[in-house]
Amino acid sequence: QRRRGDLSGFVRLHPGGEQLLRRRAGTDVSAALDGPPHRHSANARRWLEQYYVGEIEPGDEQGFAAPNPATVAQLCAWYQDDLWVPQHYNHCLLPQDLVDWQKPLLWQVGYLGEKYDEWVHQPVDRPIRLFHSDFLESLSKTAWYVVFMVWTPVVLYLSWVSYTSLAQGNTRLFSSFTTEYSIPVHKYYFPFIFLLGMILWSLLEYLIHRFVFHMKPPASNYYLITLHFLLHGQHHKSPFDSSRLVFPPVPASLVIGFFYGVLRLLLPEVLGLSVFVGGLCGYVIYDMMHYYLHYGSPKKGTYLYGLKAYHVKHHFEHQKSGFGISTRFWDYPFRTLIPEESFKKED
Ligand SMILES: [Zn+2]
Ligand SMILES: [Zn+2]
Ligand SMILES: [Zn+2]
Repeated sequence: QRRRGDLSGFVRLHPGGEQLLRRRAGTDVSAALDGPPHRHSANARRWLEQYYVGEIEPGDEQGFAAPNPATVAQLCAWYQDDLWVPQHYNHCLLPQDLVDWQKPLLWQVGYLGEKYDEWVHQPVDRPIRLFHSDFLESLSKTAWYVVFMVWTPVVLYLSWVSYTSLAQGNTRLFSSFTTEYSIPVHKYYFPFIFLLGMILWSLLEYLIHRFVFHMKPPASNYYLITLHFLLHGQHHKSPFDSSRLVFPPVPASLVIGFFYGVLRLLLPEVLGLSVFVGGLCGYVIYDMMHYYLHYGSPKKGTYLYGLKAYHVKHHFEHQKSGFGISTRFWDYPFRTLIPEESFKKED
């Protein structure tokens, strides 16, 4: 017995490229799922189940048979059969779903306890409702361009402030220890200091994603599980919920303000500001790229195509590695690189 799936809503998001999927439309993909080029993970196969619309009768490849009630019951264990809406979002629950999707999720996930970690790493294609209150719910959502519109003017303005202050020519390194040997910082150094800030951001991006977002909450701690879900867990549960892919500017400004303060304390005068503005620019690029890696359809062979495949592997298969999002760079020294797939003959 073979199953038929409607992938029209997913085809653009497919990490292996849209073309590859379109070429296989209407064919049996069970062998292709094993690759090459890519051996699909258990999560990817479960993902495919979400688009199930019916059966294929043996001998009638093009015919359309109704969904097998047993399969539907299996997929929709928690719901009545009449909630089944083929061709649209899968409004049913997978059997392993432990929460009630009709209710806001945020206050439920803490009860999952030791089942939380496995549950949160089984992605589904459906939007998440976090809060009961419409107001809080709308605050928790951010369109990608809001991040761009809020922070780009800040980057431009602070760059101008940094550059013009450096141009006055009285910024010196080490001037608090020595007056004779302090080093003047010329205004033409600004692009390099800015770049340093961007590189520091990429390290910060790695560290935050690995050690804050992927900190495993203790199974017995309801509140830490809830916090984990709010910060990053919900993105792993529903990786294609477009309204929650970027960081909302209000909480972001608290974190950004903290790092601004640290840099101003550590570095003299306008240097701290120059590094900061580079870092902020790095953050904006990162958030835009993360959105694109989920929603964009980069051409095969490009840098972004490779990054997209890499990031989707972090979501579906290798949640304990591949923490770099805008660059794979820091995964090398920290030894968390997702290995390339090899298709040598095994016996
Ligand atoms: Zn695929
Ligand atoms: Zn992650
Ligand atoms: Zn992601």
